[in-house]
Amino acid sequence: MHSPNCALCQPDDSHNVLWRNDKLRVIDAEDPDYPGFTRVAWNDHVCEMTDLEPPDRRHIMDVVWLVEGVMRVELMPGKVNVAQLGNYVPHIHWHVIPRWPLDSRYPDAIWAPMRERSPEQLLAWEVFRERQYGLLTAYHASLRVALNSL
Ligand SMILES: [Zn+2]
Repeated sequence: MHSPNCALCQPDDSHNVLWRNDKLRVIDAEDPDYPGFTRVAWNDHVCEMTDLEPPDRRHIMDVVWLVEGVMRVELMPGKVNVAQLGNYVPHIHWHVIPRWPLDSRYPDAIWAPMRERSPEQLLAWEVFRERQYGLLTAYHASLRVALNSL
């Protein structure tokens, strides 16, 4: 079941789909401010978690927690934010977002305006963020291994 006007119902750019099965897919959000930001999207156009049958609900949450677990090991975030909003795209998708006290919106949500930062803080975040980019290949490889053994 797909909806013609829904972004998550359109064919994916295959390069950012890290893993998929017949129910869902795991996507690299490719957000330049949040290296490692990962989404778990249901394949069918389903609006709310309670629209899913309980086994499907458990399946998507198992995948979300698996992503969080691998993210913690590989990227060592200061905090993981997990969110399911869908106000703009009412098609179930979970955001799993690594956060660090240096990032440009911490401790606010990533959708909040950027915080005031000193030049030193901005530079520190740039350096740290570049280092995080260097960890993404290993993170994605570990994610695929863990998802394949789910
Ligand atoms: Zn959709």
